[in-house]
Amino acid sequence: MAELTEILGREEMTKHLREAIVKEKVSHAYIFSGEPGTGKKTVAKVFAQTLLCEGIDKHMHKIGDATQEKAYACGVCKSCKMALSNTHPDIIFIERDKEKKTISVDDIREKLIEDAHTKPYSGRYKIYIIKEAQELSVEAQSALLKTLEEPPEYVVVMLLVSSADMLLHTIRSRAEHIEVPVLSNEIVERFLRESTENDSSVTEDDIKFAVAFAEGKIGRGMACFKNEHFKSLKEDVLNVVLNIKNMSIPEMTACVRKAEDYKDLLLDYYFELMTLWYRDILIFESTRDANGVVYKDYITQISKQSQVITFEGLENITEAIRKARQRIGANVSFEITMELLLTTICENVQG
Ligand SMILES: [Zn+2]
Repeated sequence: MAELTEILGREEMTKHLREAIVKEKVSHAYIFSGEPGTGKKTVAKVFAQTLLCEGIDKHMHKIGDATQEKAYACGVCKSCKMALSNTHPDIIFIERDKEKKTISVDDIREKLIEDAHTKPYSGRYKIYIIKEAQELSVEAQSALLKTLEEPPEYVVVMLLVSSADMLLHTIRSRAEHIEVPVLSNEIVERFLRESTENDSSVTEDDIKFAVAFAEGKIGRGMACFKNEHFKSLKEDVLNVVLNIKNMSIPEMTACVRKAEDYKDLLLDYYFELMTLWYRDILIFESTRDANGVVYKDYITQISKQSQVITFEGLENITEAIRKARQRIGANVSFEITMELLLTTICENVQG
């Protein structure tokens, strides 16, 4: 994954970035947009590494006009090594402090605007990668805009954001916008297999599940193996969907409490795992075929539930999950929202 020529399945995007390097038309600002887990950070990091690679000129000159294909980071120079270990002094990551709600104007002033006056430590560029740029306050974006209007020649700012619309129009008009596409299941599967080949505990079904859960986003697929909480998260979701009909009120409350533990980090995954369960039931109910099912280990239970939840019931449940996500996003009480969701699920399971 370390070379810009080989960011899996993104030939068009990488060609564009390579050309910018070869033709020396690197912009001062880039917006990399894409849903969480699409690999925005990987793309930005590889691009930054390539921009700073000490060997890059050598590769470009070597083969005359065909240089475009060869604009890649060598991976072995001092600069590449530092980039790969996230210790390059000219690649600066900026993100929201955990205690704060936004990336404030003070953060941007201190970490970017003032810092940008100091020349690069060793490379040709000084690169600022702003993660979750939608968390920049409006004031911070306005302050950033001033730097983007008259940037020092060596400054490149990369804004990573789930959707470019979340940034001020004025920022968007100053930056080059690159949409990081989701990947095909085949590519995700290949990547997940390669990443887990030394882990003997990973089964064939685990891979299949991760590919389905990833929906083209490698970061999400990898979370199935690398996120320490993922396993317990999945178990908790399964506990709800399998047992909800027979739960007492205190048991349901306990489920809500458990879900709350994931509130800040993994709640999206919680809802997505739940949605996936009911999608499995829908698939099984319509096709009677276990092949399209993701929770393969639970095919008996899926088959049973498909007999007690109607199509309309499935629709109600899916809609309730969607609404719950929305409500929690809008800061409606977590407990009330979850209780409502679990009650809706219960009501739509017959028997
Ligand atoms: Zn290098």
